[in-house]
Amino acid sequence: MIDQRRLVKTFKQLVTIDSLSLKEGAIMRFLKKELAGLGWRAAFTGRPAGGEVGSLVFLVPGFKSKGPRLLLNAHVDTVVPGKGIKPIEKGGYITSDGSTILGADNKAGVAVILEILRIIKEKKLSHPPLQVLFTVAEEIGLVGAAALPPSAVKADFGLVLDGGEIDKVVCRAPNQYNFVARVYGRAAHAGIHPEEGINAIKAASAAIAKMKLGRIDQETTANIGMIHGGVATNIIPDEVEIRGEARSHRLAKVKKQIGQMEKTLQNECRRHGAVCKIRFARIYESFNIAETSPLMEKAIAGMKASGIRPKIAGTGGGSDANIFNALGVPSLIIGVGADNVHTTKERLAVRDLVRGAEIVLSIIKEFNRD
Ligand SMILES: [Zn+2]
Repeated sequence: MIDQRRLVKTFKQLVTIDSLSLKEGAIMRFLKKELAGLGWRAAFTGRPAGGEVGSLVFLVPGFKSKGPRLLLNAHVDTVVPGKGIKPIEKGGYITSDGSTILGADNKAGVAVILEILRIIKEKKLSHPPLQVLFTVAEEIGLVGAAALPPSAVKADFGLVLDGGEIDKVVCRAPNQYNFVARVYGRAAHAGIHPEEGINAIKAASAAIAKMKLGRIDQETTANIGMIHGGVATNIIPDEVEIRGEARSHRLAKVKKQIGQMEKTLQNECRRHGAVCKIRFARIYESFNIAETSPLMEKAIAGMKASGIRPKIAGTGGGSDANIFNALGVPSLIIGVGADNVHTTKERLAVRDLVRGAEIVLSIIKEFNRD
C-alpha cells in the first residue's frame, strides 16, 4: 500500500534541507507547505530559546473511527556534520557522500509520517483521530519538546518515530540529570610562586579519579563528558569547568549517583583548598510502559499483523517520548530503520523505510474503533 517511490523521494528531499538543531526554519517551512497541500493547517508552538522556529502541530480528525487520539511524532533536527547532505542510493541503501551524516535520524520518521498522511487520504482509510507533531531541537537534549506548552500535546497515546531497527518497540527509558561544576582555586606564577597557588585542575582531577563512572549497575550510568580550564603552562589554573551526567531507570538511583558525584567534588576541593559550585538540571524523567498496557497491546498487535515479531526493549537514551510520557501521554518509540546514526556512515535500507511505514500504519489501524 505504501508508495515506495514517493516515500524515498520525500526522504531524499527532506535530507537535502539542512536542519541542525535550533536551525529548523527551512525544513519547517517546507513541511508546513507540504501539509497545506494535503489540506492540513499546521501551527507553530513552543519555540525554544535560541531556536529559529517552534514545533509544528495539527490535528487530523478520525475517519470512520472513534478510536482514542493518537500522537504521531518525529523530530526534524539532525546532528553535525549535517550541512549540505547529498543522499546516494546504491544496492538498496541510502547513504550520504561520506562527508556528512545522512539524517535518517530522523528524516526517515518525518518521511514516514508524511507518507502515512498521504496514504490515509488517498485510500480513504479509516483511522482514529491523530495529532501530528514535528518537534525541533531533540538532539541537543529534548529542548524542543520541553519548550512545548503542556496543553499543546493532546492525545491519549503516542507513537514516537525515531532511530533504529523497525522491529523494535522501546517502552522504557531512564531519568537523566546533567550538571556543570566550577572549581575555583587561586592563580599564581607556576615557576616563581607555586606555593601561593591552588591548582583547580588538580583538585578537579582528584575528584574525578575518585568517582565511580561508566556503568554503575544494570539500569544506571554516569559520565564526565567535558573539562575545560587553565590558560597557560606557567600559571597555576584558578578555574576549571566540568560537565557530566547520570542516568538511571530509577529516580532514587540517579539521585544517589549525582549526590555521590557532588560529594566527591566537594570533599576533594575542600582537601585541596579549592571551592566548588555545582548546578544540576533534570533533563528528563524516565518512563516504563507495561507490556499489558493498551498501548503496548496495540503496538504489538499492529506489528504482528504486519508480519513482524516485535522486540520489546528499553533504552539508555532519552527522546521526546520521555517528555510526552511526563506530560501524561503514554508514548512508545518505534524504529524507522536508521543505522550507524550520528556518524558519517549512517545509512538507511530502502526496504526498512518502506516496511517501517507499513508497520506504523498497521499499528494506527489497531486503534480503530466503530
Ligand atoms: Zn533521533
